[in-house]
Amino acid sequence: MATDAPTRDDLAARLAGAGVKPSRSRVLVLEELAREANDATAQQLHRRLARRNRSIGLATVYRALSAMTEAGVVDELPHGTTETCYRLCGSGHHHHLVCDGCHRVIELPGCPAKGWIERGAREAGFEVTGHRLEAHGLCAECRRR
Ligand SMILES: [Zn+2]
Ligand SMILES: [Zn+2]
Ligand SMILES: [Zn+2]
Repeated sequence: MATDAPTRDDLAARLAGAGVKPSRSRVLVLEELAREANDATAQQLHRRLARRNRSIGLATVYRALSAMTEAGVVDELPHGTTETCYRLCGSGHHHHLVCDGCHRVIELPGCPAKGWIERGAREAGFEVTGHRLEAHGLCAECRRR
């Protein structure tokens, strides 16, 4: 979400809107994540915050990320690495193209899978509360290398 950097108030409002108390550490972590166009790990965010003299313990960074992920404000992107990556995306339902080469993340707005999942779920008497769909591969730049 590097295009139009949201203000601290925007981020706090987004947390509150999702039912998460906008504590100082959460807002700082979210603000740092908003500066990242692609994704970042908890360790990376922790280091970047320290460089800005915003010292937050690593455990607090992890806790903030997990609360914000659970509330759906932050997206978790597992892509083959041992550490989970996080990203602040747009607020609408979307999916991701994730580059295995450089961690570039491309947001795919909308969802072609919804009807298909709902049909299958109806037949199985299943109640769907959410779904994830991620495609990974190589971005245009990595393909050129
Ligand atoms: Zn996302
Ligand atoms: Zn790439
Ligand atoms: Zn979807």
